Amino acid sequence: MLIDLSQVLSGRIERQSFDAIVEFENDKVLTENGVVKRAPLDVKGEVASTDGKLLLNMVYKAEWVFNCGRCLCDVQREISGSLCKELLRTPIEDDDNVVVLSSKELDISKLLWDEVILNLPLQVLCNEDCKGLCPNCGINLNVETCNCDNDYIDPRLEGLKNFFNED
Ligand SMILES: [Zn+2]
Ligand SMILES: [Zn+2]
Repeated sequence: MLIDLSQVLSGRIERQSFDAIVEFENDKVLTENGVVKRAPLDVKGEVASTDGKLLLNMVYKAEWVFNCGRCLCDVQREISGSLCKELLRTPIEDDDNVVVLSSKELDISKLLWDEVILNLPLQVLCNEDCKGLCPNCGINLNVETCNCDNDYIDPRLEGLKNFFNED
């Protein structure tokens, strides 16, 4: 999504606000992260020229559906955040808070994409106590029980298994 900044760049107006719905193209990164469905991202923001600087402020919000990290069921989560960047016409040394404008249009999709992907939760659970799937027969242990002889230990907790057995 491109925001036309020609008015604010030419000094005709001091601030340009926008209110947009940004939709990302279907991307492998999201499916690999367990996002199965995505609502578009609701974005509000403005570009303001203050003290000779051009500043971009945005807030975004969306409801996305993830796979539970244990039982794979759908889990809806709100994704939200804000972003503040300085816009420059010429690049300076690497600075995360700076966006270089290559034209009079600002591409907020790319900025938001980087931001959202960076802040995606590593693992989403339907419930802290989710029992997950049986590693042997695959049934959902939250709704059914099986007769498998499992001594299943969450791999992340495996280190704690012998916690009390050690001297
Ligand atoms: Zn679950
Ligand atoms: Zn089983």
